[in-house]
Amino acid sequence: MKKNYVPQPRSRFFKIQCECGNVQEIFSHATTSVDCRVCGKKLTQPRSGKVEIFAEIIEVLE
Ligand SMILES: [Zn+2]
Repeated sequence: MKKNYVPQPRSRFFKIQCECGNVQEIFSHATTSVDCRVCGKKLTQPRSGKVEIFAEIIEVLE
């Protein structure tokens, strides 16, 4: 599984696309994991101050 790490300490929003095609916006400093609202796949996992993303980042919203 492809993993994307978000190195920036700043808070920002990402638009990510799940394998099923669903696009969701997530917050880079979310403290809970985020599941795809369509297929239920886990999209993000908080990890020591940053977020691990298991989906394609298609846009960064500052
Ligand atoms: Zn999905």
